Amino acid sequence: MDALPFTSGELICLGSSLAFSGLFYYLYRKNAKVVTRIQEAPKLQVDDHLPEVLSASSKGCRRYVAIEGIVLPAGAALTSQYHEELQGVIQKLVLKEHRLVWNSLARSWAESERVLLEQVHTVPFALASPSGEAVTRVSVERPLRAVQLPLETVYERYQQPAHDFKDLLGHYLSGEKPKGFLETEEMLQVGAGVTGIGELVLDPDGALCLQPPADGTGYFLRLGDWQGLLAELESVSRLWKWAVLLCGLAATSVLLHALCRAYRHRRLKQEQEEQRREFEALKGGGDAALDPSEDLPDDACIICLTRPRECVLLGCGHVCCCFRCFQALPSQTCPICRSPIERVVPLYQA
Ligand SMILES: [Zn+2]
Ligand SMILES: [Zn+2]
Repeated sequence: MDALPFTSGELICLGSSLAFSGLFYYLYRKNAKVVTRIQEAPKLQVDDHLPEVLSASSKGCRRYVAIEGIVLPAGAALTSQYHEELQGVIQKLVLKEHRLVWNSLARSWAESERVLLEQVHTVPFALASPSGEAVTRVSVERPLRAVQLPLETVYERYQQPAHDFKDLLGHYLSGEKPKGFLETEEMLQVGAGVTGIGELVLDPDGALCLQPPADGTGYFLRLGDWQGLLAELESVSRLWKWAVLLCGLAATSVLLHALCRAYRHRRLKQEQEEQRREFEALKGGGDAALDPSEDLPDDACIICLTRPRECVLLGCGHVCCCFRCFQALPSQTCPICRSPIERVVPLYQA
């Protein structure tokens, strides 16, 4: 125990808080790197000068940029399943079942949801100039690889099933109650203002496209401007930073706690050793030798029943134990009368 002053519980706490702070630090660094990249990226609008911006870049014809434009389909657009007049380029249909499940531990019904169906459709699309003056288009490649899809909910319907008495009885017996079905349709509509953050590439044939960066930096498509995205990422960064600090604090407090205990343990040992030396000096001899052939002496220690009684416990004055048993007492109280032991002196028998 002296070599390793930790209990197994403390070791688990220390190990897990160190592991979590490492993980959170990694996430924080990764997020902070993306924030810096976005801050440094040129903020562009789709216009006819884009090819020149790219040609001037040191990395040839590709550059990490934030670009704003409006969505235009390259060919035929998708039509909303529920609103015929709505046209889009990404469509996501989701059907979810909401249920109540009986939790026997908490003795209550808990909400639970399950995705029954999820479909994502997409057609090739490009970003165009909002003013409509420029002819340049930036085609958006692999939009489903973006961190989050820039979708708007265009349809939402919640259906509650009707239950008769037999159903209700079945639900109570099975511990599962269907609550309802939620049907949603989300779309990226034609004409929506979108900010794309990714790698802008100028192909040899003069076509421009926005694609996921080859070095793995974030690829973002969002409705609205890049400042909003930056604010969101910065708040996530702050969250990871706090998580790192909290885990580091937890690890430090476990470490301090264990070190304090080890220090107290050492001090106690030292005090006991000092007390023993003092006792030996007063007695003027070594520890009472044990002779197993001897019968139990009349003045045997009441605790070990082998060595003779040799301690006078003060202030009560009881003479009941040998010095080793005195040192092994769980608390500094007399084993006979429970009064506190202020001092111990050797017994002299003449
Ligand atoms: Zn004893
Ligand atoms: Zn006593």
